[in-house]
Amino acid sequence: MTLFRDDGIVLRTQKLGEADRIITLLTRGHGRVRAVARGVRRTKSKFGARLEPFSHVDVQFFARGSELVGRSLPLCTQSETIAPYGGAIVTDYGRYTAGTAMLETAERFADHEGEPAVQQYLLLVGGLRTLASGQYPPHLVLDAFLLRSLAVNGYAPSFGDCARCGMPGPNRFFSVAAGGVVCGECRVPGSVVPSSEAIALLSALLTGDWATATACEARYVREGSGLVAAYLQWHLERGLRSLRYVEN
Ligand SMILES: [Zn+2]
Repeated sequence: MTLFRDDGIVLRTQKLGEADRIITLLTRGHGRVRAVARGVRRTKSKFGARLEPFSHVDVQFFARGSELVGRSLPLCTQSETIAPYGGAIVTDYGRYTAGTAMLETAERFADHEGEPAVQQYLLLVGGLRTLASGQYPPHLVLDAFLLRSLAVNGYAPSFGDCARCGMPGPNRFFSVAAGGVVCGECRVPGSVVPSSEAIALLSALLTGDWATATACEARYVREGSGLVAAYLQWHLERGLRSLRYVEN
């Protein structure tokens, strides 16, 4: 029997029996963890209120085996709120849809139970904090998060040099299969020719240049979002359901 403590973001909750829930978290030290929280659906449970999607929590787990992966899920025995991002996110439709897509993307990338995904975890904490603050438009926060998630998982798209031969940019063609912009020589069937403004926006979002990103015209923001969605979906093999509900 093991007792361990970690902090994490609540990705999802599912009902279990009359009063319990299965909580899925992305944790700092143990990657994705699914655990049972007992009694949290009783109306007076303060414990349950903290374990809601978007919450940044510090949780104590109790595992019956030495392994996190197994037949019996660990139990959440205590939790403390570090930051309740949900309050500022679920009350705003734009933030909520963007935030839901962020949680789903983080879960898809951290798909090995118990395997550390520290960079993905840090991106999610930073992304939800920015989203909850209302500092930048939700769809830009989402696209920045998606691009950086691709990058930390080894799929960084190129927006300057040719993704195939490295020819210095600017390069006109864009191909999800090739990994970003490509030159005329490396152009493959299915390449598109995005506007230079959309490419500049995506490059700014990837590097955190918010001044450039927030000054971008709406039509190029929409175009950029389409490229990000196509790129992400290609890498995740199937579409993320929640992306369909994101408003621009
Ligand atoms: Zn090339």
